[in-house]
Amino acid sequence: FSSIHHLPSLRLSIRSTSTVVRAMASHIVGYPRIGPKRELKFALESFWDGKSSADDLQKVAADLRSSIWKQMAEAGIKFIPSNTFSYYDQVLDTATMLGAVPSRYGWNGGEIGFDIYFSMARGNASVPAMEMTKWFDTNYHYIVPELSPEDKFTYASHKAVNEFKEAKALGVETVPVLVGPVSFLLLSKPAKGVEKSFSLLSLIDKILPVYKEVVSELKAAGATWIQFDEPTLVKDLDAHHLQAFTQAYSELESTLSGLNVLIETYFADVPAEAYKTLTSLKGVSGYGFDLVRGTQTVDLIKGGFPSGKYLFAGVVDGRNIWSNDLQASITTLEALENVVGKEKIVVSTSCSLLHTAVDLVNETKLDDEIKSWLAFAAQKVVEVNALAKALSGHKDEAYFSSNAAAQASRKSSPRVTNEAVQKAAAALKGSDHRRSTNVSARLDAQQKKLNLPMLPTTTIGSFPQTMDLRRVRREFKAKKISEEDYVSSIKEEINKVVQLQEELDIDVLVHGEPERNDMVEYFGEQLSGFAFTVNGWVQSYGSRCVKPPIIYGDVSRPKPMTVFWSTMAQSMTKRPMKGMLTGPVTILNWSFVRNDQPRFETCYQIALAIKDEVEDLEKAGITVIQIDEAALREGLPLRKSEENFYLNWAVHSFRITNCGVQDTTQIHTHMCYSNFNDIIHSIIDMDADVITIENSRSDEKLLSVFREGVKYGAGIGPGVYDIHSPRIPSTEEIADRINKMLAVLESNILWVNPDCGLKTRKYTEVKPALLNMVAAAKLLRSQL
Ligand code: GLN
Ligand code: ZN
Repeated sequence: FSSIHHLPSLRLSIRSTSTVVRAMASHIVGYPRIGPKRELKFALESFWDGKSSADDLQKVAADLRSSIWKQMAEAGIKFIPSNTFSYYDQVLDTATMLGAVPSRYGWNGGEIGFDIYFSMARGNASVPAMEMTKWFDTNYHYIVPELSPEDKFTYASHKAVNEFKEAKALGVETVPVLVGPVSFLLLSKPAKGVEKSFSLLSLIDKILPVYKEVVSELKAAGATWIQFDEPTLVKDLDAHHLQAFTQAYSELESTLSGLNVLIETYFADVPAEAYKTLTSLKGVSGYGFDLVRGTQTVDLIKGGFPSGKYLFAGVVDGRNIWSNDLQASITTLEALENVVGKEKIVVSTSCSLLHTAVDLVNETKLDDEIKSWLAFAAQKVVEVNALAKALSGHKDEAYFSSNAAAQASRKSSPRVTNEAVQKAAAALKGSDHRRSTNVSARLDAQQKKLNLPMLPTTTIGSFPQTMDLRRVRREFKAKKISEEDYVSSIKEEINKVVQLQEELDIDVLVHGEPERNDMVEYFGEQLSGFAFTVNGWVQSYGSRCVKPPIIYGDVSRPKPMTVFWSTMAQSMTKRPMKGMLTGPVTILNWSFVRNDQPRFETCYQIALAIKDEVEDLEKAGITVIQIDEAALREGLPLRKSEENFYLNWAVHSFRITNCGVQDTTQIHTHMCYSNFNDIIHSIIDMDADVITIENSRSDEKLLSVFREGVKYGAGIGPGVYDIHSPRIPSTEEIADRINKMLAVLESNILWVNPDCGLKTRKYTEVKPALLNMVAAAKLLRSQL
C-alpha cells in the first residue's frame, strides 16, 4: 500500500552527492519513522478520524522516507536501510507480508490494504485489536502475531520490495530490512484456543517459502544486500531455539545466494552459545552487534570471528541521546579491525535509531552547552559516517576535536557534578534502608490514627484533566497568566475534586493532580539535573509518542515539590489526603538516562530527592503518601541472570524514599500492571504499607500470588474496575469482583479502588463509576 512519489528536485540533489567522499563502510540499522515534528502521527490520526484520505497519508509517508534516505545519502552512509518505515509497526508489517491475519479481520486474500492493516493494529467497530507488547526492554510496543498450526501463509504485502524500489527511483541504493523468520516466530503467540504446547517454531517451514519469494523479488529489483533483524538471539535461548536459526538459514541459503546477507542483533550481547550458532549460519556475509549494551561482545569477537565475513560494529548508541565519544569508539573499532580485517569492518548503530529522538536541530529551548552533549538520530547518522571516514584514513579533524571538546565539557561541567549528591549517594551503599517496624505493626499504628472502615475506598491519584485545566497550565507556562491566577485556578480545581470525593464518601482522598501534565515531567522540572526537549519524541506504539526528560547531571531537589498543593488540599478536608509522588525507578525508566555512571547510581540520587519530599510531606502533616512505581517492571533486563541485580537496586531505591517515616505514616505504592508472578518477592521487599495494582481482568491467579505474597500483611488494592474503558461498571458488578477477591484475600487487608488514575476519563464517566464503587464497598461491609 505504499505508493511511489517521485520528487524530481530531491532526485537531483541526491545524484549530486556522488561527489561526496564516500566513507569506507557505514551502516544504519533503522531510523525513526514518526518524523522530526511527528508528521506521521498527525497524518495517521487525521486519516483515522476520516479527516484526510489514504493518498494524503501516503504522501506524508513517502516524503518522510525520501527525506530520510536523502539525509543518509548526503551524509555519506554506505548501507542505508529501507523498509524500516512503518505505518504502525514492523512486526505487524511482517505479519501482513506473510498473510498472517487472524480470521476475525475478514481478510479474503490479495494485497493487504490500510483497512485490514489498521484493524489488526487498532481494532474496528466490531473486532478488537491484536495484542500489543513491549519490544524487548524498550518503551516501543509491537503487535503480537497470533499463529496456529493450521495457518497458511501467502505473500500478502509487497511493502519491502516497494520501498526498495521507491528509494532506488530516488537514486538511493538501500539495504532492505526484514524481521528475520526465527525472531518473527519467537515474538509471536499461539492464537486463542490453540494448545499451549503448540510450538511456534514448527511453522518455520511454512513461512520460509514467503520469505524466499520476497528475497527473490528484492534480488530481481536490484538489491545487493539484505538485512535480517534477529534480535531474539540476545535472549536466553535453548539449543532447540538455536537449532531453528541454523535450519532456517540453511533452508534460505540457495535463495540468498548472490546477495550479501546481514544478520543484525541488538539490545544486549549475544550469549556465547548463540554467538557460535550465529557465526556459523550458512549463506551469511555479515553480523551486526550492539557494542553499547553488549558488554561481552568485543571479547567474543576477539575470541573468534569467521574469516572473510563483515562485522557491523554498533558503536553509536541507538537508545540514548548522548553524542558519541568518538575517540573511544575509534579505539574499540581499531581493536576490532585488527581481528576482522580492515576491509571487513562496518561502523554502525547499536540498534535501530527508532528508540532515540529524531533531530536536535528542532530543539529551540536547550542551551548550547547541553546541546553540545547530545546527538539525536540525525546527528548519530553523521557520527557513524565520521567514524567510518576516520577509520578509512579520512578523519575530519575539526569534527573530532569539537566532539572531544564537548565530551570534556560534559565531564567537567559543574552542572553535571554535585559533590554533595555524589557523597550522599555513595554513603547509601551497604545499608538496607528498611523501616524498623514490620508492616502489621505499622498498619495497626496507622489504623489507630486513620480509623478507616473495612474495605477502605480510595483512588489512584489523578482526576479528569479537562480542556480548561490544560489551558490554565499552558497559559501559566507561557506566562500569559499570573502565578496568583494560576494558583487560584488550581486551588478551585482541587476544591472541586475534594468536595466530589466527600460527596461520594470516599475514605482516603487525593487532590487530583491538576497541576501535573505528566507524572515524570512534573518532578523532573523541579529537580536539578534534568533537561527537557520540545521535539524529542520517541515512538511508543502506533501514533503514540513519549518525550522523555533528559537526566544529564547529579539529581537534587532544590525545594519542596508537592508540599504546597498537598497541604492546601489537606486543609480542605478532615479525611486523610494522600500525598502523591512518582517513585525513583519510574522517573529513571521513563527518562533518557546519563551514560557516564551506572543506572543504579542515578536511581539512588533520585531516591534521595524523593526521600526529602516524603519527609517534608510528613512534617507538613500528610499521613498517607503514595509513591507510584508504575514502571518498575519495565526496567527488567532481558536476561534472567541480570534480573536480580536490577530488582535489588530498584527495590532498594524505593525503600530509601520512605525508610525514615514514622510508623503512623502510611506508604502506598501503585503499579500499572498485574503480571507479578515472577517478581512478587521484590514487590514484597518494597515493604510498602498498601499496594494498589491493575487487575482489570480480575485475574484469579494474580490474587493467589498475592495471597502468598501478602501473608506478610500489607494492604492490597487490586483495581475493582478498568479505567482504560469509558464503560461505567454497575454496583453489582463491582461487588461481585470484590467478593471474588474476598474469597482469596483477607477482608482486613483489601482496599477498594479503580485500577489506575482517572486523568484520561471524563467526569460523566468518573462520577457514576466511583459512586457505584463506593456503594459496592458499603454493601460488602454490611455483609462482613
Ligand atoms: N498517580 C498517577 C495517576 O493517578 C498514577 C498514574 C499511573 O500509574 N500511570 O495519574
Ligand atoms: Zn497506573
